[in-house]
Amino acid sequence: MDKEPRNLDIAEISAVHEEITQADVRTVIGTAVNSAGLTLAKSVPVARLGAFHRSGMGAAEVWHVFCADGDIASIDSIGAVGDLRLRLDLGAVRDLGGGLAWGPTDFFAQSGERDPRCPRGLLRAVGLRLADAGLEARVGHELEFVLVAPDGSALEDTSWVPYGVTGLLDHEDFLADLLAATAAVGTGMEQVHCEYGRNQFEFSLPPASPVEGADSVVLAKILVGRVARRHGLRASFSPVPFPGGLGNGAHQHFSLTRDGKSLFEGGDGPHGMTAEGGAAISGVVNGLSDIQGLLTGSVLSGERLAPGLWSGAHACWGLENREAAVRFLRGGSGNPHGANFEVKIIDPSANVYTASAAVLALALEGITTRAPLPVEVTDDPGTLTDQQRAASQVTVLSHDIAAVIDVLDKSSLARRLVGDAIIDTTVVTRRHEQTHHAEKSPEERAELFRLAWSV
Ligand code: GLU
Ligand code: MG
Repeated sequence: MDKEPRNLDIAEISAVHEEITQADVRTVIGTAVNSAGLTLAKSVPVARLGAFHRSGMGAAEVWHVFCADGDIASIDSIGAVGDLRLRLDLGAVRDLGGGLAWGPTDFFAQSGERDPRCPRGLLRAVGLRLADAGLEARVGHELEFVLVAPDGSALEDTSWVPYGVTGLLDHEDFLADLLAATAAVGTGMEQVHCEYGRNQFEFSLPPASPVEGADSVVLAKILVGRVARRHGLRASFSPVPFPGGLGNGAHQHFSLTRDGKSLFEGGDGPHGMTAEGGAAISGVVNGLSDIQGLLTGSVLSGERLAPGLWSGAHACWGLENREAAVRFLRGGSGNPHGANFEVKIIDPSANVYTASAAVLALALEGITTRAPLPVEVTDDPGTLTDQQRAASQVTVLSHDIAAVIDVLDKSSLARRLVGDAIIDTTVVTRRHEQTHHAEKSPEERAELFRLAWSV
């Protein structure tokens, strides 16, 4: 389970300091992801490591509402006055080589209270709620990105074979350096492959506790960005890097255990699920439209959600069903991490901490209310007739993101599970995107935001 970051004593801080100084670290970057899904940071010289951990570095409250276009969204509760503290989680600091170290931070008030708008704090709190119910979660992330030129334009057209060897060889040095860089920090990528879209790659990270898993996404994006730069490239983590093409997903795989036993194996439900496993899936399927604004909330997100693009745009579940928002994966020798469910609709513009927290909170809601498992959808739901879809209670998730954000704003379920503070900051940043960019052409919009979620 993810523990509350402890205040390390002077001796412990010195030990970390000593270790990274010996590794020739000069600069420490501490990151936080905000409600628009942007990765923000403060950096300090290594001598200030202890101060970054203990008292934190100052951050204006508007950090929460910086938007993907560089503006600040307006919200009554946040103004020019007031300051927060970003505190480095020293236990999670990694030496990235080349004189740089990185660690995740949490938002605190100056008084030392946790800031209720801190997404990393929310995810840890949801982990505690699960622990109170005797449950433990692990989350494994898959991320897709498209390699582009440093100015964000498309790379010159080379031949591209989806899932082919071609792209692996065309970008062999970049990929080898990336795998080496991630292995060196200890969160090795499990695999990388060429995706369907031109110059699109996907990597998978090993399952971890929810906060560690989300941290590993932030770290992996930093490494992708760093290695890409060294090869004269950039990586786009936009949900729609180029209009009309395939989108980038940021799928998350969830497993749940009670007393070390999986809720998704060894039971007498479908595919070996236990009753609690079925209830968890039910909670997620039934609550998806309430929290969708936290998973696919950007002004570009709707364009990725069309059926047929494997983004899981149907609110239903099914074994290995890539058009279902919740794809169930059986355990067994072909799946050594064990049975889990994958939420496919999440895209990389989402705040990764908030997205994991919202899905896990829904799973717990399903378990506590003993929600009955909905009918399994065994075919591509897009091929069902309206009548069959209605019989299976499958709905297509909305690609009208303005409406999706309105639903999030009004959802008492989302507000109860995630808290008003994070719903409110998310709603204002996403509405800002709608107000200023929804009317633009898809080309203009895609170009404007192509590198917004990159690091
Ligand atoms: N690119 C798809 C998406 O937008 C996912 C393809 C896949 O199943 O990996 O989520
Ligand atoms: Mg993929």
